[in-house]
Amino acid sequence: MTPRFTPGQLHVHSGLDDMVATARALRAVGRKIALVPTMGALHDGHRQLMRTARRLPGTVLAASIFVNPLQFGPDEDYDRYPRPLEADLKICGEERVELAFTPSREQMYPGGPEIMVDPGPLGGELEGASRPGHFAGVLTVVTKLFTIIQPHYAVFGEKDYQQLTLVRKLVRDLNLDVKVIGVPIVRDPDGLARSSRNAYLSDEQRTAAITLSAALVAGARVSAGGAAVVLESARAVLDKEPSVAVDYLELRGADLGPAPEHGEARLLVAARVGSTRLIDNSQVFLGQGED
Ligand code: AMP
Repeated sequence: MTPRFTPGQLHVHSGLDDMVATARALRAVGRKIALVPTMGALHDGHRQLMRTARRLPGTVLAASIFVNPLQFGPDEDYDRYPRPLEADLKICGEERVELAFTPSREQMYPGGPEIMVDPGPLGGELEGASRPGHFAGVLTVVTKLFTIIQPHYAVFGEKDYQQLTLVRKLVRDLNLDVKVIGVPIVRDPDGLARSSRNAYLSDEQRTAAITLSAALVAGARVSAGGAAVVLESARAVLDKEPSVAVDYLELRGADLGPAPEHGEARLLVAARVGSTRLIDNSQVFLGQGED
């Protein structure tokens, strides 16, 4: 093994050069890296990604923790986004992460960037319609992380289904040598999808926020009736909660193209609860019943 790396121990690299050197050294001795990219404020959703990644045979488990400024709009929560680094590194240790990459903004974007990755038409839809430039920011940082860490596998959550879809397209269209793995959404027992942004919610807002997942469940329950029925049922649940301001509720195909008449589709919702923007989604099988 390389002098920089002791298997089974957590190594924290805040320096980009250190990270590159360790990743190259690991590759040189034939080790494979499984990367879990995150923005920190780690919760059970991130833990599930790490557990999935560490089950991949013969891999070194790496996680990046970086609040990527490029994916935040000017009126969004970049400054107040939680950054509990010490607690995050503790979770990394518990989940047997071996490489944690925690770069600074200056190291990732010295004087720039001037060049960014264009997410194509899907980058302007759904989340992209509400958050211009968001996916260019996401795909740019993901491309950089892939270049710096050179992972064989990268694990992303279905919680950000459009992000996962676009990362798959990025890998396909730019011929990146990474296998992308998606992980189902981790939820609280009441259905609320785990999110670092849930920390912003008051008790009352948290109760209202359950409406998002409840709407998806209501839609999926009537999937045998087809697209219009699914949307109507989900919308009826959302309409009952006046403190949830819906941004979009859409039914799409599994690849986020137009929804098929029959078969696998995705029901996606975004809404604001107070000043907190939340997203959720679920798989539905149109014209076939829920199971
Ligand atoms: P973030 O730190 O919010 O950028 O998320 C990092 C990764 O964790 C992304 O791939 C997310 O989709 C994933 N993730 C976040 N929340 C969840 C969740 N509740 N279930 C599964 N994956 C999640």
